[in-house]
Amino acid sequence: MLSGKIALITGGSRGIGRQCALTLAGYHAEVIINYNGSKEKAFETVEEIKKLGGKAHAVKFSVSDFEEGKTAVSQLIEEFGHIDILINNAGITKDNLILKMNDLDFNEVLQVNLSGSFYMIKHLYKQFMKQKYGRIINVSSVSGIMGNAGQANYSASKSGVIGLTKSVARELATRNVTVNAVAPGYIDTDMTHAMTDTAKEAVLTQIPMKRVGNCVDVAETIAFLCSDKASYITGQVISVDGGMHM
Ligand code: NAP
Repeated sequence: MLSGKIALITGGSRGIGRQCALTLAGYHAEVIINYNGSKEKAFETVEEIKKLGGKAHAVKFSVSDFEEGKTAVSQLIEEFGHIDILINNAGITKDNLILKMNDLDFNEVLQVNLSGSFYMIKHLYKQFMKQKYGRIINVSSVSGIMGNAGQANYSASKSGVIGLTKSVARELATRNVTVNAVAPGYIDTDMTHAMTDTAKEAVLTQIPMKRVGNCVDVAETIAFLCSDKASYITGQVISVDGGMHM
């Protein structure tokens, strides 16, 4: 389904990003796994994909550092000649009620989740225009649609990702570049492991399907949006949340 395509996945070392790398490689894409702190996990995933007969590479940079990302992306384009798919997945949380949330925690989350996605699109924008082909999938969140007490920074960043998605989709539509977002609900990863049991139980009561989602649920939706089957879909936000938002 994705033979001949090269996909760059930010935050591909763990959780949803890692599963995206495995799933896209399973559909025969060559994957470039970006990591920031988790070098070992990124290379473990590369090895896992290679053992399954796929092609994978790992590259370190922080999406929130404009120059670092720009240099890495231009080196990748030089090395591979093309990048066809960008999955803007890297993300962090720094939860707190507004009363306790400081400027630093607010801005850091915005910088990684929103500015980081903007930077990556900017680094690849000309390449996608030149190729007259591209797939951009931004990972938003149910919190960006519904809001969430204690996540003002995170929700603002993920709402921002939706605005970014729709604007870039309009800019690139005539260039055969589609830009979509997925909005996962409550997915079983390190990010949600950090929640308290009370918070987890409270979230479960809001999920009509009464279960936590897994990374495969999200990765398969992303893979579909990357495929030719989704070539007439752009500017959309697809929820993968067991019905939490409908
Ligand atoms: P996770 O398990 O905590 O993994 C986060 C990933 O982001 C890691 O691979 C991490 O890489 C990477 N990352 C963080 N800061 C980075 C930076 N500055 N530069 C490059 N990479 C960076 O989280 P997850 O649950 O898989 O979340 C993935 C995405 O889905 C995020 O955007 C998150 O907001 C979104 N999401 C998750 C859920 C959920 O329930 N889990 C729900 C809705 C949306 P290193 O470890 O290498 O630093």
